[in-house]
Amino acid sequence: MGHSKSPKIKPHHYVIRTALFAVKNILKIKRNNKMRENMNHRRRMDLLRQEIRDEQQAMDNCSHGDWTEPIYDPETNQVPYSFKTVGQGSDVWMEPDGYKDETKDRWSRECKKCGKIQYTYTQEPVIVGRKPSFK
Ligand SMILES: [Zn+2]
Repeated sequence: MGHSKSPKIKPHHYVIRTALFAVKNILKIKRNNKMRENMNHRRRMDLLRQEIRDEQQAMDNCSHGDWTEPIYDPETNQVPYSFKTVGQGSDVWMEPDGYKDETKDRWSRECKKCGKIQYTYTQEPVIVGRKPSFK
């Protein structure tokens, strides 16, 4: 149900309509659950497969227009340190003593609609406000 553009609809009518819509939705979910209970495994599986296809399609077609606020989400990598020579004779190679965690600045945000997570390693300056200029 979208927002009604009609000026005749008063807020309390809108609330009633929204409540009715919610009740209808609950009844629909209950009916669907009942339907699922009566299904055999194959039919339930077919239904789930269809739902997965629908969800995948909705994700693929998302325009990612509404993102969450970015969060600091550093990337951690394991990097080798202090290499040493191992082996004997002509059969020698280098091996690290161990690995340590190395973090890299990174930020992420999530599409509110489809859940896609986008990462960035760069920042740009934010210009805040104005002040009188006497130049
Ligand atoms: Zn999206």
